[in-house]
Amino acid sequence: MEFKARYSVVVVGAGPAGSTAAQILAKKGVDVLLVEKQREVGKDIFCAEGISRNTLKLAEEIFEIENPEKFIASRVNSVRIIGPDLETIDVRHENMGVTLERKIFDRTLAGIAAANGANLSVGTKFIQAERKNGKVELTLMKEGKLFNVTSDIVIGADGPASGVATSLGLPMETDDEEVHRCAQFFIYNDRIVGNRLDFFFSEKYSPTGYAWVFPKGNGFANVGLGVLTSSGKDPMEFLKSYISDFFPDSKIIGWLRGVVPIGGYNKRIYADNLLVTGDAARLADPVTGGGIGPAILSGKIAGEVAFEALERGDLSEKFLKKYEKIYWDRTGIDYKVSLILKEYLKNYTDERIIKLHRVLKKLFDGKDLETISITRLFINTVKVSKDLFGLFFGSGGDVLFNLRKIILR
Ligand SMILES: Cc1cc2nc3c(=O)[nH]c(=O)nc-3n(C[C@H](O)[C@H](O)[C@H](O)COP(=O)(O)OP(=O)(O)OC[C@H]3O[C@@H](n4cnc5c(N)ncnc54)[C@H](O)[C@@H]3O)c2cc1C
Repeated sequence: MEFKARYSVVVVGAGPAGSTAAQILAKKGVDVLLVEKQREVGKDIFCAEGISRNTLKLAEEIFEIENPEKFIASRVNSVRIIGPDLETIDVRHENMGVTLERKIFDRTLAGIAAANGANLSVGTKFIQAERKNGKVELTLMKEGKLFNVTSDIVIGADGPASGVATSLGLPMETDDEEVHRCAQFFIYNDRIVGNRLDFFFSEKYSPTGYAWVFPKGNGFANVGLGVLTSSGKDPMEFLKSYISDFFPDSKIIGWLRGVVPIGGYNKRIYADNLLVTGDAARLADPVTGGGIGPAILSGKIAGEVAFEALERGDLSEKFLKKYEKIYWDRTGIDYKVSLILKEYLKNYTDERIIKLHRVLKKLFDGKDLETISITRLFINTVKVSKDLFGLFFGSGGDVLFNLRKIILR
């Protein structure tokens, strides 16, 4: 593909955030360039591939997908939470979410955006950008050659350590408390339960984080583990002992290391001519590390606000601030609850988790999420942990009143 000298919008990164922004803009007839440094969209994926039903629904709506089955590995209808003493809590809910074939998912989204008119250029790396005369000049590299293109708006969807944000004066600097370091094996083991997500909390195997088993169907699963960078621990070490203790006879089909940046709530995610989305903006859930939903939602809102800015001819940060406001108005409560839980879990001990687990077991075990009483949940939470209740209470009533919605999201 030949580059033009000028585009209305350049989106950097064809992950879920970038493809969503490009899709929204292309559908509105905007001249948008979507660049992806990998030779093939979805070639390198760092993910356990689980999403909620709401995220799936959002993607289906935005991309007008009628047959999601081609990128669904397994449908999820229960969650198991395992404590350090190996006690379990099983919660059911029909159609909780799915595990994806993420390579196919990412390719599908980028392909649909391109089919709707986005100019997709793979094997194209963003190098740098600078503002000139109210626009942005970007330097891109393709097949070893440098190209310059000009754009009214740039959407940074280039994942953790966003070069786009830094280049345009919006560094997303990292605090060790705000990055989960993860390791994951893709395994085959005939004991994997096809429709259940497992979350395992224990000081021994997952200090400051948790281990997960996300089934991919037919005995395959992503088994991984995350720890906060501030813990100074290497997640791979813990994961190896977790696998050898709990899935000793597994066949290892693949492995990866990756990071999930969080903490976007306290950062500015817009500037003149610039909107930053998804992992580039650090929008993943602080506790679960789920970032696909936030990536798609932020990509959607960024695309819509960019369109409005172009229509009005106002590319200033004063106008683009709207993007941040709409995003946090939609998701701020969920994010706040997660931040509070993250604080609680940060210094957990097995003893503390076992105590909390026992209370939650009485409330949740064997139940359908729809039938769970939030009032009882809180009364029991206070009983077990005044500090956890204090954290919620201190954060304001809005968190308390919206909890049911959050749990069922
Ligand atoms: C081990 C692990 C497990 C996870 N599990 C889950 C999970 O189960 N569920 C969930 O919701 N989230 C999960 N996440 C988080 C999730 O993967 C991310 O939040 C999500 O991919 C963010 O989407 P994005 O579009 O913002 O960024 P990305 O998916 O990272 O996409 C960014 C794109 O930008 C491209 N790019 C980067 N730099 C440049 C450049 N200079 N020029 C051009 N292109 C560039 C990259 O190649 C990439 O394609 C997990 C993360 C990890 C590490």
